Parts: sequence; C-alpha cells; structure tokens
Amino acid sequence: MGRESGVMVIGGAGYIGSTMVQKLIDEKYQPVVFDNLSMGHRRLVPKNVPLVKGDLRNYKDILSALKKYKPGAVIHFAAASLVGESMTNPLKYYDNNVVACVQLLKAMKETKIKKFIFSSTAATFGEPKRIPIQEDDNKCPTNTYGQSKLMIETILKDEARSTDTRYVALRYFNACGAHPNGRIGELHDPETHLIPNILKVLTGEKKELQIFGDDYDTPDGTCVRDYVHVEDLADAHLLALEALNRGMKSDAFNLGSGSGYSVMEIVREVEKVTGKKVKVKMSPRRPGDPAKLVASSDKARRVLGWKIKHGLESIIRTAWEWEKIKNKSK
Ligand code: UDP
Repeated sequence: MGRESGVMVIGGAGYIGSTMVQKLIDEKYQPVVFDNLSMGHRRLVPKNVPLVKGDLRNYKDILSALKKYKPGAVIHFAAASLVGESMTNPLKYYDNNVVACVQLLKAMKETKIKKFIFSSTAATFGEPKRIPIQEDDNKCPTNTYGQSKLMIETILKDEARSTDTRYVALRYFNACGAHPNGRIGELHDPETHLIPNILKVLTGEKKELQIFGDDYDTPDGTCVRDYVHVEDLADAHLLALEALNRGMKSDAFNLGSGSGYSVMEIVREVEKVTGKKVKVKMSPRRPGDPAKLVASSDKARRVLGWKIKHGLESIIRTAWEWEKIKNKSK
C-alpha cells in the first residue's frame, strides 16, 4: 500500500465508514478496512478492499494491521454511538470509544503514522447556548456518548501538542440518507435513528413511530436536529484528508447543513416524499436528548472547501430507496 494513497478505515464496514470506503475508491485512494464486525457488515465492504477483522482493544490486532498495510493516514469511525444506550451502559462507551481510541493512537505512534481523522459528534456540545453552534462554543455533553467523544478530542489535542501527529475531528450532526449507488446504507440492529424508524413504519416493520417528547422548548415541542447526508460527510473526510496531506494543522469542524428540522417536520417531509401517511405516537422524552442541535458549518466551507450536495428531500429519497431494498441485497 502506498504511503500517501493508503488509508486505513477503522469501522469501514459500518454505515458512514463504508460510504467513505466507496468515496476513497472513487478518488483513487487504496482503502483497507479494520472492523470487529460487531455492528458493521462484511457485505458493505467491496470485495476488492482488504478487510481485517480485529478489535482495537486488542493491541496486537491493530498493531499488526498497521504494520502490514502501512497506511499514510487513519480514519476512525468505529464507536458505540447510541445516546440512549450510553446513558444506561456508560462503561461500554468509555471502553469501546475512549479505551479503544487510545490503543489505536498508541499503535499509530509505534508505526509512525501521523495523520488521523476522527468521527466526533454534535453531542460534544450538550445543550447549546446559541444556535447555530460554532466550533469553539461551550462543550458540556448531556449524555455519555458525547462525553466519550469529547474525552477523545481532548486526548487528540494533547497528543498533537506533544508529538507531530496531526488530526482532524469532524463533529457530525445527524448522519442520514443512503449512497445513491443503492449498495450502502444504514443497517443498524436495533435501529434507533429517526429517519429509518419512520421508514420502517411505512414498510410495516414497525407499527408506529414513537416521538420522544413533544414538550421541548422548540416551535412544535419536538426536538430539532440538523440532518446531513452520509455522502456529504464522506466528502468532508476526503477534504480533511487532502488538507492534512497538504500540511494543515490539527483542527475540529462541525458538519451539518445549518438548517434545523423538528421530529414532526421530518415526519411531514417523509410523508411528502413517499406519498404515504406515517402513524405516530407521542411518547416520553428519551434521556440525554438536547432540545435543539443545529450546526454552523461555515468553518468547514471556508477552510476545507466543503459544499453540501444533498438537501432533506434527497436524504429522505435515498434513505427510502435503501429501506425498500436493503434486506434483498443480503
Ligand atoms: N427520535 C424519535 N423517535 C425515534 C427516533 C428518534 O422521536 O424513533 C427523535 C430523538 O429523540 C431525537 C431525534 O429524533 O430528538 C433524532 O434522534 P436520532 O436517534 O436519529 O439521532 P441523535 O440526535 O440522537 O443523534
């Protein structure tokens, strides 16, 4: 594997990771996937891409993979990422996210790999004091998931200060949509995310959509989020990789569309795009959910040259196409 074109994608068999692998192939990079397949799927990894089955918490697994493939950069997607679960099982999040990432950074140090792109999250901010959220705004996570990612960002800052490792932390707002090629999309079990859960009501897989809280301080009482297409996220990683290759210093960026939609607005948009009625049920709040998260992505546009290609209609249309075929392509 060439030092510049080789990229190890940790968690490359997952939803965002496999979209990234496709992007790297399209852009003539040579990805290799490292994944423990606990949540990822072998079938989301193209046949001609090497797949190392390993766990970051087994130091030998990651060390031998980095020694074998000698990538120029590492992109790290692998993490537990469910807000609700993180509140009931916090140790899973500190082990799977923080401990695993420290192991990865140690193995990168030992193999002298110095470029790192990290999947961070809007959940690092907690309940924001202002909307849209800017990169340097106060960070006070309301859930363990966000806390675990913020800890890693702190670790990365310290590591970059004391070594010549450079990193980019990309804080995703709500990743959604599916690859327009129809081969890659969300395959979570259990599925907890809003858009796939709405679509499952339409396919009959779910009886109704539970709406977690309609008494938030938002225009219609349901939570407001910033939905960003997974392909746009992959574009941002590619731009970050190119920027690191050009010598950019370590930095963090918010990745969102800059537009907020409430849960009810998403339900209405799904009904519009699919022409079907969604059955909903008002339910209690989900612990750890902030009322409103909307990104300012000016910095990613300005510094990385990021441009969003997919709006909400395209997000829902691609997700709906995927939802209808995802079990058939098993
Ligand atoms: N949500 C909901 N019903 C669901 C799934 C999600 O009402 O079945 C709400 C959730 O409480 C949050 C928003 O939809 O306000 C987005 O949740 P999701 O889990 O998709 O992403 P998160 O914002 O937690 O990363």
